[in-house]
Amino acid sequence: LFDPHCHLDDPAFAEPTLDLALRQALQAGVGSALVPGFGPGRWPRQSELLLNQRGFLMWGAFGLHPWAVDPAQDIDSLRLVLERGWQDHAQKWGEGLVAVGEFGLDRSRRGQVVPWDLQGALFGWHLQRARLGKLPVILHLVRSHGAALEQLTAQPPPGGVVHAFGGPVETVPAYLELGLCLSFGSALMHREKARESLRATPPEQMMFETDAPGGLKGDFPPPLGPAHLPKIVEAASQVLGKSVEYLLARHRENCARVFGLPLLLGPADEPPRRR
Ligand SMILES: [Zn+2]
Repeated sequence: LFDPHCHLDDPAFAEPTLDLALRQALQAGVGSALVPGFGPGRWPRQSELLLNQRGFLMWGAFGLHPWAVDPAQDIDSLRLVLERGWQDHAQKWGEGLVAVGEFGLDRSRRGQVVPWDLQGALFGWHLQRARLGKLPVILHLVRSHGAALEQLTAQPPPGGVVHAFGGPVETVPAYLELGLCLSFGSALMHREKARESLRATPPEQMMFETDAPGGLKGDFPPPLGPAHLPKIVEAASQVLGKSVEYLLARHRENCARVFGLPLLLGPADEPPRRR
C-alpha cells in the first residue's frame, strides 16, 4: 500500500522512531509513501530521505506549507527561497519528484499569521511551478475554498489532490470538475462533514492518507506513521458500505494515475493513464 501524504521528514520521526515507524508500516502492508514538502527548515531532511531509501519506497513533492512561511518576509524574498530550494533539493530528486506541494491557503488561527496577500502570491508561485513542470499539486486548504477555487480555475493545474479534505460538501463538485482528487484522513473517524464529503466523491477521485504524524494525533497510538493507513480505509469502508478491497483498488489506481507511479499497480490491474 501507498500513503500519499506522510511527513516522514517531521522531527517526530527522528531516529530511531523513523525505523520503528517504517518497520510497523511494512508489517501492516504499507510499503511506500509520498513525503510532501514543508519548508526550508525541513527540505534538507526530506532530500536525505528521498536520496537514501531504506527498504521503504519514498517519493517527494516540493513546496512551502502555509505554516512554514516566515510572515516577516516579503514575496520577493520568499520566491528566492523557493527558487533556491527547487534547485538545491527538488531538482536533485530525479524520478523521485512527483508533485508540487504541499501548499495552499489557510485561514485557521495558525495560518492567519501569514498575510492573506502573501498566501495568495505563494499559491500562484506553486501553481505556476506545477504547470511549468507538468506536475500534479498537493493542496492544503483551510476555510479558503472560494479563493482557492478562483485561482485554480484561472490557472488549472495538471491534476492533483486536495489533501485532508474535510468539507464542506458544497465545494466537492468544483474540485471534481477541475479533475482533482480528494484525499481523506483520520477525520473520517469523527467528523460528519468529512464523511458527507466522502459520500459525495466518486471512487475514481478519492484517496486515503495518514498525514502522519500530525493528522493522526488523538486517533492512534504512536509512532504515528503510515502503518495506520489501513484503519483509515476501514473507516471509509464503513461510511460508504463498500469493501476495503474495492476501496484499496481505487486508491491505488488513483494514486498511480495522479502521481505517475505505475509500479503501484499489479500486473492484473488496468495500466494507468499517463500524465
Ligand atoms: Zn501535510
